[in-house]
Amino acid sequence: MNNIMLDLETLATTSDAVVVSIGAVAFDPTTGVLGERFYVELQDLEYQQSLGRKISANTVRWWLDQGPIVQRALADTPMEHVDRVDMRTALERFARYIERNGDREALIWGNGADFDNMILGSLYQSAGYKAPWSYGRNRCYRTLKALGIARGVIPPNRAGVHHNALDDAVHQTEHLTTILACLGPR
Ligand SMILES: [Mg+2]
Repeated sequence: MNNIMLDLETLATTSDAVVVSIGAVAFDPTTGVLGERFYVELQDLEYQQSLGRKISANTVRWWLDQGPIVQRALADTPMEHVDRVDMRTALERFARYIERNGDREALIWGNGADFDNMILGSLYQSAGYKAPWSYGRNRCYRTLKALGIARGVIPPNRAGVHHNALDDAVHQTEHLTTILACLGPR
């Protein structure tokens, strides 16, 4: 599998946002079969700020409107069985994850490609790392979602926690493969 749906939870909506969590799932766009999942929370948010990354007041307000399960990604103590790691460990793990799921052929989907993909690429830059995929591999779920709405494609039922980065990635993948199926055979 070399398609990867990426979802981030962040503390701003600009490309230099502080990143709270990284979720992803590998998938086969033809069959909709899901592969390896990825989820980490980042513990060193202040460190990201010290590198110049941003927290927006409006986004903090948005977090305050979310339920307690979503907010645990930001709380001092993570939920049980959740990996909470420092920024560089998270980025190294995600790079290994891409290597295992398509490596240089990996296509990275974001909602949109100018949001999740840009922010994560920028986080690699902040860490002094090269992003493990090139811009030519960016794919935009937001564009396909709009196309699906325009064609009356009914999204699949939503499972999991809204705004949990992994649950969002899984839902977005299920929605995307539904839309691709409606667009006809490849
Ligand atoms: Mg999300």
